[in-house]
Amino acid sequence: MRSFLWEGVEEGKRDHLVKWERVANSKEEGGLGVGSLKEKNEALRAKWLWRFPMEPNSLWAMVVKSKYGSATNGWDANPASMVTSLNPWKDISAGYQTFLQCCRFELGNGNRVRFWEDSWVREGLLKDSFPRLFALSSKHSLSIDCFVDSQVFPHNWDFGFRRNLNERETAEVIKLLEILEGFRLWASKRDRRRWDLEVSGYFTCKSFQSFLCNKGRVVTFPPFSRVWKAKSPPKVKVFVWLVGLGKVNTLDLVQRKRPFMYLSPHWCVLCKYCEESVDHLFLHCPFSLSLWGLLWREVGTVCVIPKGCSDFLCSDFVVWGSGKCTSTLWRCLVHSVFWNIWMERNRRIFEDYKGVGVRDLWDRVKYWAALWASVTKDFKDYSYSTIMRDMAAAVI
Ligand SMILES: [Zn+2]
Repeated sequence: MRSFLWEGVEEGKRDHLVKWERVANSKEEGGLGVGSLKEKNEALRAKWLWRFPMEPNSLWAMVVKSKYGSATNGWDANPASMVTSLNPWKDISAGYQTFLQCCRFELGNGNRVRFWEDSWVREGLLKDSFPRLFALSSKHSLSIDCFVDSQVFPHNWDFGFRRNLNERETAEVIKLLEILEGFRLWASKRDRRRWDLEVSGYFTCKSFQSFLCNKGRVVTFPPFSRVWKAKSPPKVKVFVWLVGLGKVNTLDLVQRKRPFMYLSPHWCVLCKYCEESVDHLFLHCPFSLSLWGLLWREVGTVCVIPKGCSDFLCSDFVVWGSGKCTSTLWRCLVHSVFWNIWMERNRRIFEDYKGVGVRDLWDRVKYWAALWASVTKDFKDYSYSTIMRDMAAAVI
């Protein structure tokens, strides 16, 4: 699949521009949303761990519980570690610890959440955060309602220490009490398990799969909407995605990948002056700057070009107005500038072609942007030539 994406069919070995882990990520995270079967499988298995305490009366849950028993808090079945490899619960429960990292309890009456051993505060398990106090406590494996009188608020916490505490231990208790401040038990409410990766608090395979792919790191791709919500053709969007990631095969990148090749002359073919990099070619090259200048004039704005293409794609520009048509045409224009700079650069390098001036290239930029916009429902009453002739009139 990876080779198919970057090398095409019968085209021989070519550079893989973006790491496969990144490609597998969702588009919001900077990938192509291809997904990874291994992580998908693990996320689907975890769904059974989520459903187990939700469906205590279903036959499958009763069978699992009677066969393996359940944890002391009563939420989960015990892992099936001492059974044959063909046992499905063994595979499912193998992901239990990773699954638990994404769960947190919301307190109700506190009778189904263990104080030390369950995750119910943001700081993680209290037995890990305060190992010394945990060792001194006589209330291991007991639920939170055994530590307080729920009728009295603010709560007086009783940790059941086996002896009087020394100065250091007292300081730790003060830290622990600071964490517990604000927590309250509600006698009429049941404890609930929350899925931390979703705002709704409910498990989804998608969120867990993304957690597994990114190994818990939060990965975002700020230019997401500017890249993928544009109405340009898919190949142009994929190209702008590569520009946003800085992974286009400009000469500086090719030279780094092939240090033993002498790429001469390794200067930008548009200005024949500076070394070619993604940010230079698309933003800072005098040729490209003139092209952006024509775009600013068209949309009636002025702006300072940001340092990099990713920053550029994240920037908000004030153009014409703020309607849906404006944003559709604006995104088409930006994509068209990137695409046409790249086409112009490639023609000059790979074909016997002298190149066109900035004005002529600007006409092409407008032509393509107007054509892409004209087939969207926002511009259903306009032909591409009408849009191209007077863009400001078309969006108002
Ligand atoms: Zn240049």
